[in-house]
Amino acid sequence: MPDKYAVIGNPVAHSKSPQIHAEFARQTGQDLTYERLHAPADEFTQTASAFRARGGRGLNVTLPFKGEAFHFASLLSERARAAQAVNTLKFEGNAILGDNTDGAGLVNDLVRNLGCAVTGRRVLLLGAGGAARGVIKPLLEQKPACLMLANRTLGKAQLLVQNFGGGFEASTYAALAGQQFDLVVNATSASLAGELPPLPPGVFAPGALAYDMMYGRDETPFLAFARGEGAAALADGLGMLVEQAAESFFIWRGLRPDTAPVLKLLRQATA
Ligand code: NDP
Repeated sequence: MPDKYAVIGNPVAHSKSPQIHAEFARQTGQDLTYERLHAPADEFTQTASAFRARGGRGLNVTLPFKGEAFHFASLLSERARAAQAVNTLKFEGNAILGDNTDGAGLVNDLVRNLGCAVTGRRVLLLGAGGAARGVIKPLLEQKPACLMLANRTLGKAQLLVQNFGGGFEASTYAALAGQQFDLVVNATSASLAGELPPLPPGVFAPGALAYDMMYGRDETPFLAFARGEGAAALADGLGMLVEQAAESFFIWRGLRPDTAPVLKLLRQATA
């Protein structure tokens, strides 16, 4: 019997994770299945438990369940605890291990795929939701010159600074006027609604990379804005998606798949 994995979410029909993990498994010769698991909004625990009861070995967790998965896990990695969000569950005997691979996914995409060093750079992170929480610690571990967290609701960003024990600053969008950054990461959900976070002009330093965690066929309002503002490079979150999946695959199977051909395949499919 092949080992069973799945991605759980709501909605989940659009998820590219089954295709990504099927490629990883083929590439590494692993005998596993990977399905989509749609959970009703108030039935995350029941759906995940039922999957586990029928022999499931692990789950990827997507919107809106990363917070519930955090509470569902019996053992948490340090990065999941810092993020207070879990995107990877591993069922091992009686234990439910919870981890968060989103931050590693972003950093690996930036550093390995895009050749964008974070170390010593001025970094601006937009948003203070689950995605932002997941990437703060891995970004700080890269030792940027500074990390600024801007959020529409300033209090949420300030609370994160407090919860993480400092090491970065909280800001409103308006207070960014006159400041410049080498890397600007959009971790808001504004792009999902076709909206632009209220960034003042002039935040992109010469040579800056603009990164939107959202991905899709069309350029997001954030990337269009960055282009207009003269950002030197633009990237969407497809690479992060593939890299966070590779990190989950490693947690489950102890093997690191080659992400480049899988990313290429997905790019061709969305071209
Ligand atoms: P949340 O709902 O937890 O957080 C949403 C955040 O966006 C909040 O900080 C909110 O601000 C902010 N926001 C929403 N609309 C606007 C707007 N119009 N202007 C400014 N700020 C706004 O979402 P997540 O953190 O879970 O997800 C964020 C994005 O990241 C999604 O697009 C998701 O698809 C993407 N993502 C991509 C991944 C990948 O692998 N590529 C992995 C994980 C997430 P406020 O607090 O003021 O309400």
